[in-house]
Amino acid sequence: MKSNHLLLLIVLFLFSCQKEKIQLVPSEFEPYVDEFFHQAQLRGYDLYKEDFDFSITLEEIEDPFRGGECQFRGNKITIDIQNWERGSEEWKEFIIAHELGHCLLDRRHRNVKTTSNECYSFMRGGKQDDFSCSQNLYSTKWKKYYYDELFDRSTPFPIWYYENRDYPQLNTSANYLLEWKDTLVESFEINDIDFQSIENFLVEIDFDIINTTSNSFRFSLGEIKFGGCPKCIASSLDVQKDNRKWYVSEWLENNSKYKLSIVRRGKFASFFLNEKYHHTIEFDAFEGNGFYFYSFRDQIENVSVKVISY
Ligand SMILES: [Zn+2]
Repeated sequence: MKSNHLLLLIVLFLFSCQKEKIQLVPSEFEPYVDEFFHQAQLRGYDLYKEDFDFSITLEEIEDPFRGGECQFRGNKITIDIQNWERGSEEWKEFIIAHELGHCLLDRRHRNVKTTSNECYSFMRGGKQDDFSCSQNLYSTKWKKYYYDELFDRSTPFPIWYYENRDYPQLNTSANYLLEWKDTLVESFEINDIDFQSIENFLVEIDFDIINTTSNSFRFSLGEIKFGGCPKCIASSLDVQKDNRKWYVSEWLENNSKYKLSIVRRGKFASFFLNEKYHHTIEFDAFEGNGFYFYSFRDQIENVSVKVISY
């Protein structure tokens, strides 16, 4: 027998002796596991489910803040039954990606956040490690970055994040579409501005909260809501859509003068409180032109509203 034929036989023999990998994945987890591998393949990684031994089970985990666990030995993933049952689709996708990140990518927690409280990674540790940051699970822009980072830890923070952090400096081309003041209001709405068609705009609402110990305020543009309750105990500012928190800030400082702003720069919109940067999302998410402002419990004072295209 020729030596290269012998070599081929040995290789074939070794290959046939390789144990087939086993994945024990109940059907309810399958779409999320498939999504993990799909995201890997989209980025050019040769990662296939069939190449790994791993299992996922649904059980009760004692720590209520822990959505899942990975036991590195044997790649055993446990998902907490209560968190799973009440979790959104996006949260389920996140927790499976996070646990597969541990078990299959050998990643550990990366508890780092930006000054605006954004998580750097899907591999954040969660409250059990006394670390919290804004998970940003619902924005497609953020999700793309988090998957990039999951498969490649050296992924830089997105450029669009840095490009949208500055408060606009208006020049002479700024066009004031609306300027309006009132001494005391509970709510107001603007229905005659086509925000969707203005490439770059700034919306500012200045107001005071003086004579109250508790007041929350919120404004909504299209489907996106932005607000908080700075005089409440341990309050954050947040961005919401469909009752889901797209962003959560750190605790707010108690203040009496507030200025909420939304800035649109083309495909992105950013949120500011007192001209301090908070968050950026894709402008597509707003869907609509309706603009409402409302305060709860008490009226707000010395209100000034501006809508400026620039
Ligand atoms: Zn973890």
